Amino acid sequence: MKLLVMGPPGAGKGSQSQKLIADYELTHISTGEMFRRSYERGEEIGKKAMAYINEGNLVDDDITNEIVRKRLLKPDAARCFLLDGYPRTVTQAEALDDMLKEMSSSLTAVINIVVDKDIILERMVGRRVCKSCGHTYHKTFKPPKVEGVCDQCGGTLYQRVDDQLESVRNRLKIYETKTKPIIDYYKGRGLLININGMQSFEAVYKDIQKALRGLR
Ligand code: ADP
Ligand code: AMP
Repeated sequence: MKLLVMGPPGAGKGSQSQKLIADYELTHISTGEMFRRSYERGEEIGKKAMAYINEGNLVDDDITNEIVRKRLLKPDAARCFLLDGYPRTVTQAEALDDMLKEMSSSLTAVINIVVDKDIILERMVGRRVCKSCGHTYHKTFKPPKVEGVCDQCGGTLYQRVDDQLESVRNRLKIYETKTKPIIDYYKGRGLLININGMQSFEAVYKDIQKALRGLR
């Protein structure tokens, strides 16, 4: 299965992807996570990307397409993958189509998690992420067992710089103008599955599973 999970920032893409990759044995490709890891490793590409990210802007299309192209060519992405947070512009969606064509591959489905703006703000400002493994929590909706400590690996939890209010507002604006048009792009190709993201984690996941039933 080759899935793409999209939706506004804070919709729950990462949270649902964490379950999907485990249950469906998919290789997780999250561009945001790849940029953060690259920055932590002190790489040039990560430093360049982080300058955009901290301001709540999108990373340049060429940089983003290039890291995805390299990632998709690795053997573990040959059969099954889940793209989380990519593409985020129509230019990226077109580039992805070209990459998949070159690999004689295609997407199985595009899951679009739909969430209203007021809910998004609350989710993003309360988000906490593990520095070591990237697992995501929420101060209120999904607190860790021990405050500030990751349940999965014992790593330290932190608040992303781009989850502060100013940056979140900018990201939402950019989502409306640059990312939302992709919904029609995939709708026109018959791939789009809309999922109501304004429910509990478990209810959202159940709806996704239902929608994926019968797909391979
Ligand atoms: P995205 O990857 O789309 O930016 P995340 O999966 O990181 O979003 O979720 C954003 C925040 O909202 C996280 O703190 C997460 O724990 C919380 N969250 C995600 N889905 C739900 C949900 N269905 N109900 C309540 N909180 C949620
Ligand atoms: P995420 O972890 O998906 O919330 O992404 C965090 C940030 O990384 C985004 O706000 C962007 O600045 C950057 N980013 C992630 N994916 C992309 C993408 N496909 N195109 C451009 N920028 C991206």
